[in-house]
Amino acid sequence: MAKRQFKTESKRVLDLMINSVYTHKEIFLRELISNASDAIDKLYFRSLTDDSVSLGKDDYRIEIAPDKDARTLTISDNGCGMDDAALNENLGVIAHSGTLLFKSDASDLETIGQFGVGFYSAFMVSKKVTVLSRPYGSEQAFLWESEGVEGYSVKAAEKETHGTVVTLTLKDDAEDERYGEFLEDYRIRGLIKKYSDYIRYPIFHKSASPREDEADAPAPEPLNSMIPLWRKSKADLTAEDYSGFYKGKFHDFTDPVCTVHYSVEGAVSYTALLFAPSQAPFNYYSRDYEKGLQLYANGVLIMDKCPELLPDYFSFTRGLVDSPDLTLNISREMLQHDRQLKTMAKSIEKRIKGELERLLENERETYENFYKAFGLQLKYGLYSDFGQNADVLKDLVLFHSLAEDKPVTFKEYIEKMPEGQQHIYYVCAETPAKAALLPQTERIREKGYDVLCLTDDVDEFTLKMLRVYDEKEFRSVSGEDAGLTEEEKEAQKEKKEENKDLLAFIREALGDKVSGVTVSSRLGRHPVCLTSEGELTIEMEKVLNQMPQGGGLKANRVLEINASHAVFAAMRSLFVSDREKLKIYANLLYTQALLIEGLPVDDPVAFSEDICSLMV
Ligand code: ADP
Repeated sequence: MAKRQFKTESKRVLDLMINSVYTHKEIFLRELISNASDAIDKLYFRSLTDDSVSLGKDDYRIEIAPDKDARTLTISDNGCGMDDAALNENLGVIAHSGTLLFKSDASDLETIGQFGVGFYSAFMVSKKVTVLSRPYGSEQAFLWESEGVEGYSVKAAEKETHGTVVTLTLKDDAEDERYGEFLEDYRIRGLIKKYSDYIRYPIFHKSASPREDEADAPAPEPLNSMIPLWRKSKADLTAEDYSGFYKGKFHDFTDPVCTVHYSVEGAVSYTALLFAPSQAPFNYYSRDYEKGLQLYANGVLIMDKCPELLPDYFSFTRGLVDSPDLTLNISREMLQHDRQLKTMAKSIEKRIKGELERLLENERETYENFYKAFGLQLKYGLYSDFGQNADVLKDLVLFHSLAEDKPVTFKEYIEKMPEGQQHIYYVCAETPAKAALLPQTERIREKGYDVLCLTDDVDEFTLKMLRVYDEKEFRSVSGEDAGLTEEEKEAQKEKKEENKDLLAFIREALGDKVSGVTVSSRLGRHPVCLTSEGELTIEMEKVLNQMPQGGGLKANRVLEINASHAVFAAMRSLFVSDREKLKIYANLLYTQALLIEGLPVDDPVAFSEDICSLMV
């Protein structure tokens, strides 16, 4: 039987799994039990809506059986089972594009965490894994087998009943990695209490050291309480209970940043349990990511990801909604028009917003970390739908303040505005450090005004969409007359008039590279900068030109020359003595302005020749 290869990216995840830190390894049991429970959920749901499935509610079970002699641990379920195609599809690949995996320089744990752990975690403790499975309604079983990265095989096999049996052959013990302990009764019981107590189906444990008189022993008790966590009273639950549940249910390695648990009684009754993760899944900012909450009808899972319950800007939310008012047979189409669901979605949005505001207010560091992962999504939310959601989101976004050198909200920015400042200033740059160095920034900062640094592509579009916050307009530091007082504007006008002919000559020399040339005395020690006039800024031009259909747009660039700089004096005298040389100066200044802006130089060869002509 030929060995099949894991998809490359799966191989890498497997590698990470196999070599992960020992203390994390115990979660494999939680993951496999969670899969078993999901498989039973699928069959149970079918039994409620399909008469051909004849299983009673009490027939379902999960069983854990250690065998010390063989050094194996077996996890069995009588759920839906898998045929050979499903085994290949589900256990041969981790479904995603692999690019991010190879780039990631994060620690192992974080990397795996982005992918969810799932079935592959079995390899954290096993040198060999077999999966014997028979789908419900079929006579044919299949055996999947793998010893890790080398690959896996699938072949036809025999199994008496439907369902799945996962058998782990544990790794050999090493000095401080004692895999054998996962065969001990106390360890298995402890892990199930810790991670899998809420599982709705009974988990039985076949003791590794059975007593002689087993036949006479009373029926075993399940190891788990089987009460869904969200049905327990909030007062009886600890933060650990919630985070343990979250990690098990949603295959995350890290604790959620916040949890919302509430019930509503009334025209629409339901319980919701919501979590915000601490890190973004690897595919979060791609089309592959599916938002949604689990939907339960009176405790029965009817949908794994119901997108209607979450707005796009809160799509990071994981969790579930359980309502006695939903029917089991509800279809996707019906859900889209369901009034009850809309009511729930509204209140869910409010609760998430409230919880994020609470974090921002009381646990700033946690919020900032959350924002690092999901802030971009909030900003997209502000921008999309023509800014319709501004009221929900405008107080949740943060931008880096150059004055305070940390992220601030708009509200915080405004609170610190000195008297006389009319607008909220921002600058677009790769990093706050680069932003601070721009001449345009410096001149605003010299007035004692703070400047927000925009580093993401969407940022400036978002601010343009918002237009104002608390009646203060957003202004780019690169705008035509950013930060100028009336007198300064007047002085600039005079200077411009004085040098009218020189500026016209420079404009002529630069051709259509710029839409205007002007002078100012506000540039401090810098000889030149580029600003823009009109709606489209140079930063927006950069972003739009990266898009497949956005090419060809050009901001109206204005070359602003420092009238107090020695270079300008030199140009004035060249205007009288050597106009050919002045042309070279004009081009050099323009190129310098491009370089300062971080824009590509139009013609590097001409630039080099111009410099050489001045050097010899
Ligand atoms: P996830 O559970 O997050 O989808 P896994 O890697 O744990 O990812 O599992 C992949 C898929 O394999 C599951 O979605 C499910 O379809 C299938 N699967 C895993 N374990 C079982 C099982 N015990 N019974 C039936 N199907 C299973």
